[in-house]
Amino acid sequence: MEFKKCVRCGCFFISKNDVCCNCETRDKLDIAKLNNILDENNTFDSIQDLSIASGVTFNNLNRFIQNNKIDGINNNSYNNLK
Ligand SMILES: [Zn+2]
Repeated sequence: MEFKKCVRCGCFFISKNDVCCNCETRDKLDIAKLNNILDENNTFDSIQDLSIASGVTFNNLNRFIQNNKIDGINNNSYNNLK
């Protein structure tokens, strides 16, 4: 395993993931929130709008989408949103 820098909080950790174990929990909460919002309203014009509506930062949102963590947005619809 290699030593990595958490993309979310910047701390160093050892794991296969992009984020440390603290941020893994935060990621899961954010993803659950985003999926809930998209279940109710899937008509966001941009990632920015979704970021504002969910309170999830633009950077984190982009990361989730690129890792296919958000059910309502795949890479194709992401390209449309950009
Ligand atoms: Zn972290």
